[in-house]
Amino acid sequence: MKEYATDAAIEMHGVSKHYRYFTLDNISLKLPRGQIMGLIGANGAGKSTTIRILMGLVHHDSGHVQVLGHNMPAQQVAAKWNIGFVSEDMRLYDSMTLGWHIDFIRSIYPNWDAAYAQQLLKRFGLRSEQKMKGLSHGQRVKAALLLVLARKPELLVLDEPTTGLDPVARHEVLRELTNVMADEGRSILFSSHNTQDVEQISDQITFIDRGRIIDSMDKERYLDRWRRLRLEVPRGVDLPALPGIIGIRRDGSLAVATSNAFEPELASAYESTGVHVRRVENMTLEEIFIANVEHSRDEVEA
Ligand code: ATP
Repeated sequence: MKEYATDAAIEMHGVSKHYRYFTLDNISLKLPRGQIMGLIGANGAGKSTTIRILMGLVHHDSGHVQVLGHNMPAQQVAAKWNIGFVSEDMRLYDSMTLGWHIDFIRSIYPNWDAAYAQQLLKRFGLRSEQKMKGLSHGQRVKAALLLVLARKPELLVLDEPTTGLDPVARHEVLRELTNVMADEGRSILFSSHNTQDVEQISDQITFIDRGRIIDSMDKERYLDRWRRLRLEVPRGVDLPALPGIIGIRRDGSLAVATSNAFEPELASAYESTGVHVRRVENMTLEEIFIANVEHSRDEVEA
């Protein structure tokens, strides 16, 4: 079997998984060690399926998956020592207290950092004598995060960690994830449909839609390359199709062009055809996500 370099925390090559009504199609992605990747996709896009494959919980039909240098699912036992995984279906015992869970996990993982666990209890406003069944959704998410963070894993894999949290709790969780990265060489993959959360803390961003990765690159490049150009098209002038423009919306003499490969020369190229560029605007990650999804769906349907 082909060997992959281990400078990546996560590596997927041509991974596919077929369900009756859904296909995760030829997924390739790489998360370098020491970085945070946000996996953004709409409902049903395939985020959880991708994450479950990474964790060895779902077996892929084809392709290769390596996590921390271990082939998945074959070497999942070895890999999981160094992965902290939080998802909706994390098994917590309702009738037991948070303290019981802490003692249980500490007894298994030698890297458990008791002082850090105490800090997290305070920061997250949790009490160790609380039973899991009495916790609110947000408290439960924070408890689950505490249980994985204090193990000090090399890789955190978090399936929608901020979904359903209030703004204060979201801020606390995101701040803690940034703190985690103070230790060199640790990495985080987290999925979300909240682009603001992803924009706030990610180095790398991957967009997934209808089971396919539609774009993946570092955050700064997205914000740099995507622009909206507000154009004025004088009567008698044709709006040219320029490379780097992936969408045009026209309303009379006004038009809005979206570029995913913006260079200042693009504005001069319009001007040279007689089209006036009134404004070049930056786009938020949410706008980039939506434009990206629309463009990719148009291409598939074309
Ligand atoms: P959401 O944001 O809504 O949680 P998601 O991006 O995490 O969505 P997935 O949970 O990966 O999406 O689901 C993708 C698709 O795969 C869905 O259409 C779902 O019905 C399908 N799917 C997932 N697991 C199975 C399964 N065990 N059997 C059949 N279909 C499945």
